[in-house]
Amino acid sequence: MIKPKSIGMISLGCPKATVDSEHILTRLRAEGYLISGSYQDSELVIVNTCGFIDSAVEESLEAIGEALAENGRVIVTGCLGAKGDVVRQAHPKVLAVTGPHAAAEVMEAVHRHLPKPHDPYEDLVPAQGIRLTPKHYAYLKISEGCNHRCTFCIIPSLRGPLVSRPVGDVMQEAQNLVNAGVKELLVISQDTSAYGVDMKYRTGFWGGKPLKTRMTELAGALGVLGAWVRLHYVYPYPHVDEVIPLMAEGVILPYLDVPFQHASARILGLMKRPASSEDVLARIRKWREICPDITLRSTFIVGFPGETEDEFAELLDFIEVAQLDRVGAFVYSPVEGATANDLPDHVPPEVQQERLGRLMGLQEEVSAARLTRKVGRTMRVLVDEVDGEGAIARSAADAPEIDGLVYVNSGEVLQVGDFADVRIVDSDEHDLWAEPD
Ligand code: SF4
Repeated sequence: MIKPKSIGMISLGCPKATVDSEHILTRLRAEGYLISGSYQDSELVIVNTCGFIDSAVEESLEAIGEALAENGRVIVTGCLGAKGDVVRQAHPKVLAVTGPHAAAEVMEAVHRHLPKPHDPYEDLVPAQGIRLTPKHYAYLKISEGCNHRCTFCIIPSLRGPLVSRPVGDVMQEAQNLVNAGVKELLVISQDTSAYGVDMKYRTGFWGGKPLKTRMTELAGALGVLGAWVRLHYVYPYPHVDEVIPLMAEGVILPYLDVPFQHASARILGLMKRPASSEDVLARIRKWREICPDITLRSTFIVGFPGETEDEFAELLDFIEVAQLDRVGAFVYSPVEGATANDLPDHVPPEVQQERLGRLMGLQEEVSAARLTRKVGRTMRVLVDEVDGEGAIARSAADAPEIDGLVYVNSGEVLQVGDFADVRIVDSDEHDLWAEPD
């Protein structure tokens, strides 16, 4: 019998990179390679890198260095891989460098440097592929790339223009995941609301019926598979309003991750982002009228070049009035190749940090007040972990890794991946505490 070859994988970066790693692992297993968790047992290591900000570049270069030192045979892929010269300059000994979303190129490099085993064991690979997330939730990537040109971002130059996956393929993958026990599907892309724009919203097929390649139609179809469906990275196009009724009807989770980035019209203009804060506030009011339970998550950039104290105060006012449930905020940091670097009047780092502190302090108050209102309510949660003290779970309002948690006292009888109805008994600025109902 031929001994299968072993390959190691280091996966860095965002959920989109995680999905790329999963696709590569799936193809490796489909061809009969073994996946190893140690450098020593691997005959080759693939490093899937992140290149979004400078600290991610450093982390990626370090990971490549470690893999070279510990194993010696390394293939680099992912966002930093798009800048092959940076990788090769730091680590000339890497075997190959490919960009993001390049499973085919990675497989070619693997075949070149570690020819594939003679007997493929395709039947050993489950239909849902190989996943890096826990069994009960999974990321579902619906497209790659982005057609926008936000001035602080280099993702379009790293990952290229929008390319949507055929709707039938996305639905089949979702169905396979649900069949394999996945309870929550996290829909991701660079720009989820643009899904299908590149295909002119072509009508595909699912279950023998026509289905448009479009976010609203996809969300509706995913919603009947029986898992929680959570939408991430929803760029605030007007048609986003269409999915709110689906949330109110319980078809998909009442959760919208919609990055607003700022509230000042001038700063949004400099960022090449849409919408004025009055429009956004009016839309938020409308969304809450239609779906009072909606959880709104957004991200903001603080200290963008030229941001004045008045413009930052406008952002604080927006945070106060919008009463968003979840906010991620980052200080602007120049990324090599981003056009915002050329803007005048960069904000000094100490001012950026001070503004970030003020914004997060205000948001903590907003978040604490919003979570207090949940005390006494009964809600459905999905269990992520169980230990001697109880269970750690998440509600519809909490995406994994980025949002809060629900700590369920005496929830030891629960199991990971269970849905449970719990009564909320306490809260702080991020998390909730609950008793089984
Ligand atoms: S929409 Fe997102 S991925 Fe696209 S350019 Fe803007 S920040 Fe980058």
